[in-house]
Amino acid sequence: MTRMSVGPVDAGASPHAVLRPLPQDTVVFAPAGVFGAWQQLNREATIDHCITEVEAAGVLDNLRQAAEPSDRVFAGFWFADSDLYKVLEAIAWETGRAGDDSWGEFRRQATEILRAAQAPDGYLNSWIQSGNGGERWQGLEMSHELYCAGHLIQAAVATDRATGDSSLLDIAIRLADLIATASNTADGPLIDGHPEIEMALVELYRHTGTQAYLDLAVQMVEARGRGRFEGKHFGRAYLQDHAPVREAIEATGHAVRQLYLAAGVADVYLETGDPSLLEANEKLWRSAFEQKTYITGGQGSRHRDEAFGDPYELPPDRAYAETCAGIASFMWNWRLLLATGKGKYADAMERVLLNTIAASTSLDGRHFFYSNVLQRRDGHDGTQEDAPSQRLEWYACACCPPNVARLVASLQHYAVTRNERGVQMHLFSQGSVDVAAPDGTGVHLEIDTSYPWSGRVDVTVDGGGAIWELALRIPRWCTAVTLSVDDEVLSIGADPDGYARIQRRWGSGIKVRLVLEMAPRWIGAHAHVDAVRGELALTRGPLVYCVEQIDQVPGISIDDLRVDPMNSVNVIAAPARIGAEVALAGEAQVLPPADQALYRALSDSEAAGSEQTRGTRVPFLAVPYFRWANRGDSPMRVWIPAVTS
Ligand SMILES: [Zn+2]
Repeated sequence: MTRMSVGPVDAGASPHAVLRPLPQDTVVFAPAGVFGAWQQLNREATIDHCITEVEAAGVLDNLRQAAEPSDRVFAGFWFADSDLYKVLEAIAWETGRAGDDSWGEFRRQATEILRAAQAPDGYLNSWIQSGNGGERWQGLEMSHELYCAGHLIQAAVATDRATGDSSLLDIAIRLADLIATASNTADGPLIDGHPEIEMALVELYRHTGTQAYLDLAVQMVEARGRGRFEGKHFGRAYLQDHAPVREAIEATGHAVRQLYLAAGVADVYLETGDPSLLEANEKLWRSAFEQKTYITGGQGSRHRDEAFGDPYELPPDRAYAETCAGIASFMWNWRLLLATGKGKYADAMERVLLNTIAASTSLDGRHFFYSNVLQRRDGHDGTQEDAPSQRLEWYACACCPPNVARLVASLQHYAVTRNERGVQMHLFSQGSVDVAAPDGTGVHLEIDTSYPWSGRVDVTVDGGGAIWELALRIPRWCTAVTLSVDDEVLSIGADPDGYARIQRRWGSGIKVRLVLEMAPRWIGAHAHVDAVRGELALTRGPLVYCVEQIDQVPGISIDDLRVDPMNSVNVIAAPARIGAEVALAGEAQVLPPADQALYRALSDSEAAGSEQTRGTRVPFLAVPYFRWANRGDSPMRVWIPAVTS
């Protein structure tokens, strides 16, 4: 039942996209590659796990209760409907990707429950309908009614695109039409304290061609920041209602809300072309990514209100870096990539995908982090704040796991684009691509790579006889790159957007080889990031590495390690049971035990700066951050203090 015409963002006809997504079934990740293996794990473990947990959490029973009111106590958070919708979206993309209907029975049952729960006028929200949340639309500051509706719309569009079953879409359209009607007032449109529906309405417009949905998304974006909400709990920035979107150019407030809204604004730009929206969106991006993003791509520094912090407020141990914020960041960057063609947005996608989002899920695909810290101290217990020391099977607020499932099931959507010049490859993983060249000629690309373990990407092109351009992203972390075609080395010209471009007449079996140098590198942070001043992080290619206690010399705490960036770091095989190919090994120093007092006066020699302490030399081993916490309870840190000289 392959009917995968388009993926999550059908910007193929968007008038202001400079890059266009490919049909969803034209990029295939092989299971041997990093993304193909992840999709396999999602299929074999994560999706089933999400279904089991959503049922056990009472999400379906909440909806049954909406159809037949009873004395049953509502289960979970008031926005629990959205967990089911994300699971249904994951099922849809996976059904289309794999070409079978393994979850068809669950999908049909869930759809029937939703159909029964939907009110005659189209309203659907189990929290409100079961009498818990007051009147419809009256508590949108906190009720998440439109947030849930947005996830329903996305699931419905995905199901129709991937399976051809429009029954969920019928339900979503009835609800969307009701929201449009309710928004047609002198007070302006309904808006939700948790943005999300903006993206969904633009996608519903793309899918149905109904202009009213785009108009409603535009109205909702324009209505932001005009004081609709009181903000009595965390202030208006938390609700993204503190300033109109063209003026809200500092990333602030609840990180997921900020990032979903930004993605919705980018979607509106792709359809309307309002340059002031793109300008504000790119300024907002610079605030978020040049001052408020962890080296892992994670965003959100504060546990209280799950928010962006001040510029350079990036504590590694107290990082919030919610998995959903990582996914929202990935989605926003994709839309900016389509709107501008700038490789920095694809770089940001890669960083957050291979570090934060990948770290959120365990090797067994059934345990998840909600918060993705960059340091786990010995004895840490964060179970009361969604920052446990180990991944959990599920969370009371279960937004993250099904969000991972729906993203991974649709991941091939984000790897390759095309435009009138040719084909652009943004994310690298073993697999194949079938695409039409600008003149309509069929093109087949066979991609052979063990990226991100190796920087070699071989692309065999069967490209017909036409002239077109193959563009390969040169990540900004890479400082040395070689490119060859049929063993002839090409010079790579400076490209403002960050791509190596090969424009030529293509034939059969033409071999393109891109080699991105992947030496281990020590990374320092901006001087204003006080939390990691004097510390270094180790990276190789797109991956951030970390030290876990389990890998170090017994008796040596990772908190006592000091590293010297002048010492070489060796690339070695990763330890067993970690799901990685490459680890990094080097030598560190361990300082002799100091005064154990929390605070102490400096000695005269220390005060004079004349004391140079040399510690004991010990080996250290660093593993990819995204595989940490897969071998039991073990402290971890990304940032390691440098030796003082
Ligand atoms: Zn989440």
